[in-house]
Amino acid sequence: MSTPLVSVVVPMYNEEANLSELHARLIKVLAGLDAACEIVYVDDGSTDNTPEQLEMLLLQPQPICTRAVRLPHRRGKTAALSAGFAIARGSILVTTDADLQEPPEVLPMLVSKLRSGEAHLVVAWRQQRQDTLLRVFASRLFNSALRWITGLSLHDMNCGTKAMKREVAENLEGWLISDMHRYLPVLAARMGYRVAEAPVPHVVRRRGRSRFGASRYLRAAIDLLPVSLLWWRGWLLWLLLVASSTLLVATRYPFGWLGLAAAMVWAAGALRFWLRRNRRE
Ligand code: UDP
Ligand code: MG
Repeated sequence: MSTPLVSVVVPMYNEEANLSELHARLIKVLAGLDAACEIVYVDDGSTDNTPEQLEMLLLQPQPICTRAVRLPHRRGKTAALSAGFAIARGSILVTTDADLQEPPEVLPMLVSKLRSGEAHLVVAWRQQRQDTLLRVFASRLFNSALRWITGLSLHDMNCGTKAMKREVAENLEGWLISDMHRYLPVLAARMGYRVAEAPVPHVVRRRGRSRFGASRYLRAAIDLLPVSLLWWRGWLLWLLLVASSTLLVATRYPFGWLGLAAAMVWAAGALRFWLRRNRRE
């Protein structure tokens, strides 16, 4: 088996309704690439028929090398990506979601941007988002905040469809805890890698449902605590919070204590994350 150039890693939680179309389209699109490819499915402890379907698929001969890894129970998208990266052999790692919201047909375009040397990591930028108003609004807010903190001019940092050089994925490994998949492009940029974006069409999720509930917003906010402090503007926000809250407390304005408590939570969140990260490395 020759070493593939491109590994497509797909995290999946209860995606039985999407697997056969996803696989057929991936096979077709990867067969058209002038490079050896492999597909790595990561079953994130699905409780539907995803594991049985994957087993069936692996028993049949495949035109593109297809492999799968199963996590014994649900550990989340970040852990699923980490497990996929660990067994992927390509020198370019592509990630995409199983729900087909970004058409797999865009993958060769992302790969070509890496092969031409334009970037070390390319993240898809969903055009005309087909999600609920709340999600689109939250995503705009999230991207604007990240743009301000990091100074990067990316529009859609949490799109599940990305391509990166193997070296980038290896260096991101220590960050693949909690729900950090949302921050991979900014983390790669912080490490000095060139990060670019590429507009892609976006379609409605036709089968299955989103696997993240409203807790996604809280988790994104918690993960933003350590990430923000990698940039001076994050520190500036934190120091402003401490300074203004201290001033309010000094002038006996009770809201100051709330601000100070928030600043402590921010610092504790960042510390906890860095300790966990160092343990993992
Ligand atoms: N996913 C996963 N584990 C989880 C949640 C999601 O592996 O705990 C997978 C899911 O099956 C999909 C991708 O991650 O392939 C993105 O999930 P989803 O489409 O539900 O997220 P959304 O598009 O709503 O952000
Ligand atoms: Mg989706």
